[in-house]
Amino acid sequence: MNDSHFDVIIIGSGICGTSTAFHLKQRGAGRVLVLEQGAICSGTTSHAPGLVGQLRADPALMRLLRESVAFYAEHGDGGYQAVGSLRLAASEARWREILKQKAQADEAGLACELLSTEQALEKFPYFDAESVQGALWVPEDGSADAVALTLAIRTRALEAGVEFRAQSRVTAFGEGSVRVGDDDEWLFAPVIVMATGVWSWPLAELAGVYLPVVPMQHQVVWSEDLPWLDEDRPLPNLRDPDGLVYFRQKGRQLVLGGYERDPRAFDPRSIRAGVAKPTEQVFDAEHFESLLTNGKVRVPALRDKAMKWSRTLNGIESFTPDGHFLLGPFPQKKGLWAACGFCAHGVSGSGGVGRFMADWISDGRPSMPVPGMEVARYQEAHERMTFDEAVESVTAIYSTYYDIDKSV
Ligand SMILES: Cc1cc2nc3c(=O)[nH]c(=O)nc-3n(C[C@H](O)[C@H](O)[C@H](O)COP(=O)(O)OP(=O)(O)OC[C@H]3O[C@@H](n4cnc5c(N)ncnc54)[C@H](O)[C@@H]3O)c2cc1C
Repeated sequence: MNDSHFDVIIIGSGICGTSTAFHLKQRGAGRVLVLEQGAICSGTTSHAPGLVGQLRADPALMRLLRESVAFYAEHGDGGYQAVGSLRLAASEARWREILKQKAQADEAGLACELLSTEQALEKFPYFDAESVQGALWVPEDGSADAVALTLAIRTRALEAGVEFRAQSRVTAFGEGSVRVGDDDEWLFAPVIVMATGVWSWPLAELAGVYLPVVPMQHQVVWSEDLPWLDEDRPLPNLRDPDGLVYFRQKGRQLVLGGYERDPRAFDPRSIRAGVAKPTEQVFDAEHFESLLTNGKVRVPALRDKAMKWSRTLNGIESFTPDGHFLLGPFPQKKGLWAACGFCAHGVSGSGGVGRFMADWISDGRPSMPVPGMEVARYQEAHERMTFDEAVESVTAIYSTYYDIDKSV
């Protein structure tokens, strides 16, 4: 084998590509190379606030998320902390939904507990209990420092022999090969994995395949240091789906984010090569106003007029038309695989996804059926959408992200 031949090439050094590379080595893969177009971990992972949640309706997804948490707890080297999470119910319908989620979690073996409002206040004493009927407590949920976590996994991957190349942009695909940069450098591998986040749609076109990943703008703000927060005893993450917002403590600051009713898509073809923070856009205060208002309603201490936001972020994240991950091999392009489309759960999911991908690549079959997540579901011509059609579907899903599950 010479310097241009590998067993697996992974495109993308975010948390997903890095975790997949590490797990491939655990499975005994030979030469594994991670190619990164910019600096290592410079995509969406570089700015994710990192709430790690495990509660989902799909049992297969819940299993991947639970495996992530177990993996981060073992290999996260301080990049992950199990602070627990509270999901508030501020309406009758939400309480019924939470009861159903509790039953789903019980069935999947995920530890969780229904709390009265008073019990929830003991865990997060700063929320306004107005209209809150109770909460679901998931003690093993946590918070990640997404960059620290990714770099910790990368260190382990390097120790295991994974090779990383930064500033190495994939610009073309051949049969079992990729071209790097604009010169004629070709690298070869029987397995090539696209872990390419918001860049996936246009890159897939280069490979002659279809990956309906729609980048969406997702905004969050960081409070200034708050004297009432104790860095050594961080609060659990708090989700208030009726107010469309979530909170996490980071150091002595509170991070506030959420899902607007009128979300905005972003065309990945407009990202210029070589920019330092390619997945950050200018923060749009007007667009964030409704979430900010709801956040201040739920956590009144944030209403203090003297308080300044220490940081604002308009980050770009990948969403898919049906709201599910895009994983697995492309049926029509032998050796080409995808692991992307994480719909704002890529930090939560990548520990489990990395292992799942590594098992699938190593064994030639998935370790559990995931029909709703397979990339193959979009490959027939009649299942393909134009970018504008996909934006429409994604917008509909994003804007109802925290709506009540209609089946309750
Ligand atoms: C504001 C915000 C808040 C979020 N909050 C959370 C949260 O609380 N919890 C959670 O779980 N998730 C959250 N997410 C989502 C999470 O950050 C992402 O799902 C996750 O980081 C995606 O990781 P990735 O490895 O797939 O993509 P990325 O980190 O984007 O990595 C993809 C990499 O591929 C590289 N690449 C692309 N094209 C090429 C090419 N042609 N050649 C070489 N390299 C290439 C890119 O440069 C990039 O480094 C949030 C996202 C945003 C924007």
